[in-house]
Amino acid sequence: MASLLPRMERLSSRVVRVLGCNPGPMTLQGTNTYLVGTGPRRILIDTGEPAIPEYIGCLKQALSEFNISIQEILVTHWHRDHTGGIPDICKNIPNDSEYRISKLPRVPHCEEIIGEGEHKYSYLKDGDVLQTEGATLRVLYTPGHTDDHMALHLEEENALFSGDCILGEGTTIIEDLYEYMKTLKRLLQMQPDLIYPGHGPVVHDANARIQGYISHRNAREQQILSVFQKNAGKSYTSSELVKIVYQDIPENLLKAAENNLIVHLKKLEKEGKVSVHEANFRWRSNL
Ligand SMILES: [Zn+2]
Ligand SMILES: [Zn+2]
Repeated sequence: MASLLPRMERLSSRVVRVLGCNPGPMTLQGTNTYLVGTGPRRILIDTGEPAIPEYIGCLKQALSEFNISIQEILVTHWHRDHTGGIPDICKNIPNDSEYRISKLPRVPHCEEIIGEGEHKYSYLKDGDVLQTEGATLRVLYTPGHTDDHMALHLEEENALFSGDCILGEGTTIIEDLYEYMKTLKRLLQMQPDLIYPGHGPVVHDANARIQGYISHRNAREQQILSVFQKNAGKSYTSSELVKIVYQDIPENLLKAAENNLIVHLKKLEKEGKVSVHEANFRWRSNL
């Protein structure tokens, strides 16, 4: 059982976590939002879900407790459990000027609307650096969970704000496994000391966690490839294959397992190892 996170916690001299107060099956104990820096104006990373007055209350409390304000807002990716709180923050937490709200663009680019369209994103790119007193954040483009996912490297602590790329608990959903594996390798190369994830507790064994994510996916891929190899020339639909790869899986988890399998098959297709014809997957070496 995961340990219960407090609604607000000072995690280091420059990082305060405020919980999004939006617990649920997908968000676990809720989205983590972080106030970063040591000065009177801090950077806020992620904003929780729309219309959660409890979160706005917690955030206000954190700001007054530390006697700070928000310098600007960064969101790790477009999912509503990370961007949804923006309109309420802008409305309920006054600032001298309009907040700058930044993220990476969607790929392919598409227009993104915040709330009713009253605010606009300013778009960052990989390698950009954001600064506030006591904290330097470098933007890392980390696609896979979504096409616009950004992690942030906090230089002063060699720590990563990983968004939904690496979680503190549970498993993350992958949109593009091919990109995601590249992202994991990039994060591993950075050898971070610490991960501040988008959900769940702080990850202290950062490299072991990233390596664990990589090994888990590689093992699953190997399992899929060996089914193809043992049955040379045979093609499968994903629903046939899921029963072979995930033997003994309870019926109610079958759909989720199939979705996960499709993510793997798409990666193998992208790498030219598997071909698809009318929803039938086949190992390419046997064509
Ligand atoms: Zn997400
Ligand atoms: Zn999330």
